[in-house]
Amino acid sequence: MSRRQIQQHLLLLATATCALLLASLQNLSAESPATKSTTRPATAQRILEDDVRPHVEYLASPELRGRSGYGSILAAKYIRDHFEKCGLKPLFEGESYFQPIPGPAREDQKKYVMGRNIGGLIPGSDPELRNEYIIISAHYDHLGERGDKIFAGADDNASGVSMLLEVSERMANAAVAPRRSVVFVAFDLEEHMLWGSRWFAAHTPWPIEQVKFFLTADMIGRSLGNLSLPTVFVMGSEHATLVKAALDRAGEPEGLEVARLGIDLIGPVPRSDYGPFRERKVPFLFFSTGEHPDYHTPRDTPDRIEYNKVAGVSSLILDLTGDIANSDEAPVWTDDVTPDLEEVRALNRITTLLLQDNEEHPLNNFQRFVISGAQTKTNQIIERGDVTSFERTYLISVTQMLMLSVF
Ligand SMILES: [Zn+2]
Repeated sequence: MSRRQIQQHLLLLATATCALLLASLQNLSAESPATKSTTRPATAQRILEDDVRPHVEYLASPELRGRSGYGSILAAKYIRDHFEKCGLKPLFEGESYFQPIPGPAREDQKKYVMGRNIGGLIPGSDPELRNEYIIISAHYDHLGERGDKIFAGADDNASGVSMLLEVSERMANAAVAPRRSVVFVAFDLEEHMLWGSRWFAAHTPWPIEQVKFFLTADMIGRSLGNLSLPTVFVMGSEHATLVKAALDRAGEPEGLEVARLGIDLIGPVPRSDYGPFRERKVPFLFFSTGEHPDYHTPRDTPDRIEYNKVAGVSSLILDLTGDIANSDEAPVWTDDVTPDLEEVRALNRITTLLLQDNEEHPLNNFQRFVISGAQTKTNQIIERGDVTSFERTYLISVTQMLMLSVF
């Protein structure tokens, strides 16, 4: 977005904010938002901090050099070995765990291999449902080295890969196989405009219509803007009623809040590997704890990861995958998105924290004005108990302003 577009955007936003503030002046009594009372049921399958930590520490170690070039080959081998050890079947042609990703043809018209996706499969146990596929994924590539600086990519996205490795292991070792087939994919080249997932989605081992659900986790071990926020954002459930229901059934891991957001709140450009699947209208979920000041810097290191979050999100994904893989009906895509109070609550918490927590994010007067307006408005919506499409358009503007100018 150009500077001029940003200015126009902010001007529009200020206008919308003023209109809404005026419209709501008569109703300024703000009450604290209702909190959710769901808790996750206890399960013997719980994934623990000590399960995920070693994966992050290895994948983001100096030896792996930011998982680009030779480091990327070492990371791919680590993931492949894990899939093999757990008994996952190779996903790709020629009984291979690797899917080579060609780059554009060079001057001599020869194509070269630019990267590799890694995939393993747990075949479904139900003869009628085994040709339906659930994909669980995380990208494993990162930015490599620049000069003597290593971009370790602990949160982005060794955290997501550790989820992938632990969830695949638990599902492969379960006493009963899932009814639908479950596929685990570590994507390469996400940092190159999602090239790995784009290639995969265009070359699935089965027709894409047989993919009933796609999940990706990208950065699940930190906090949005370093705010003290025990929250994982889960986006995309608005496009499939059954996915939203399964997410609600899964509840919240101990100490973690699950905040459902509409994917359009973070803009039309895909921010991770869900992009190619959303384009094809495959029901999906995107898990992330959000961007922070160490994002895409050499400071994204294993010592800064909140391993309780990675473990909690992994446990939640494990439950959810089992639920969707075993349910009678598969999720179905819908374009008909209804506004959801849940995302209003999430935005309300973020604005409250931003207005309190000022060391990390000193606000200028304009930002403070917009954020206070958003806080008042979200309080009113929560109190009233429903959100209109007009209000939702405003919330999208506020969120995009926060992403552009605060975080
Ligand atoms: Zn990422």
